[in-house]
Amino acid sequence: MLNERMVALGTQRSVIRELFEYGKQLSAEIGAENVFDFSIGNPSVPSPPIVNETAVRLIQETDPVVLHGYTSAQGDQQVRELLAASVNRRFGVSVNASDFYVSVGAAAALCCCLNGLCNPGDEVIVFAPYFPEYKVFIEGAGANMTLIPADTKAFQIDFEKFAAAINEKTKAVIVNSPNNPCGVVYSEETVQELSRILTEKSRKFGQPIFLLADEPYREIVFDHTTVPYLPKYYPNTLVCYSWSKSLSLPGERLGYVLVPGSVEDHDLVYAAIAGAGRSLGYVNAPGLFQRVCALCADTTSDISIYETNRNLLYDGLREIGFDVVKPDGTFYIFPKTLEEDDLAFCERAKEYHLLIVPGTGFGCPGHTRISYCVPTRQIERALPAFRALADSYRK
Ligand code: PLP
Repeated sequence: MLNERMVALGTQRSVIRELFEYGKQLSAEIGAENVFDFSIGNPSVPSPPIVNETAVRLIQETDPVVLHGYTSAQGDQQVRELLAASVNRRFGVSVNASDFYVSVGAAAALCCCLNGLCNPGDEVIVFAPYFPEYKVFIEGAGANMTLIPADTKAFQIDFEKFAAAINEKTKAVIVNSPNNPCGVVYSEETVQELSRILTEKSRKFGQPIFLLADEPYREIVFDHTTVPYLPKYYPNTLVCYSWSKSLSLPGERLGYVLVPGSVEDHDLVYAAIAGAGRSLGYVNAPGLFQRVCALCADTTSDISIYETNRNLLYDGLREIGFDVVKPDGTFYIFPKTLEEDDLAFCERAKEYHLLIVPGTGFGCPGHTRISYCVPTRQIERALPAFRALADSYRK
């Protein structure tokens, strides 16, 4: 008898992957230029040249036995020193190399935290709209996900529902700002209120409630938006970071967990995360790219292209009549669908060769995610198709 849960996870393709595969099939039939695939969040902007230059230099100049050898389970010491220096410089804090656990992307960072923190039956709070893999990660750690419905007006937090959901089983809360799928950044007031409630409830239940800050999109923000640095507001924050989006390196699988010194029982929490990494077999993230990412940690891909795409799509959708909150960052936009049933809406969009993802999978029905990490020309060509789709509802 196999593990039924794993068989199910390995068999069912995600809605996003289904759409992506459908797009490839449709492209073969009608030509890629006639398919408007907005399904997947794969960065469309190349890594900055310094990434490849650094990789080549390291390959040419480093003893291969060292470069391709095992690093410490938690990441190379020099890498973690570079990361601490970068974070301290950028956020005006004083973290140490020993606070970092280098991981295989944000996905593994989150899994290490969840497995390290949670006991069976614990609860982890997530705010809609949310990255659907959270449920898989949380349940994989033996915990249960509690979903707080979205504040669909501004995509901040519905604090009344949040406060009411916290109980003695609440172990952690995951936040993702800038957010996939809506692109919104939590304001400073939101972060302050979130911290206040977490502090009050931790005291009430006599144990820390950890805040997991999932931040793969931290640097992808527009209009000089500031993303509050959460450990400054709430001491029991663990930062889960990734270079998948900021340096356009999703295939290299690099990120980290940062356990700042302010975290209660810091050394025990760090040990639990390292233990989870060990138990999951996630030790020693890829060695070459640990070094490349650490040496390029202050750089990002050219995000101005995403901003151009955001402006074009936001203005275009509004003009057509879509109700949509303006994204502060990421490369996603999350308008309301033109009928309540977002699955039916996205099926209908296919007739116009528009591949967009239903909001239901993100815990937010009545919306659709459009990933604009695509060539700008694709958006220009797709806007008439969005108009035709909207017109089909007005007839
Ligand atoms: N968290 C969010 C919100 C994401 O959108 C993604 C990837 O799309 C991840 C985590 C996982 O990122 P990584 O590629 O670093 O594992």
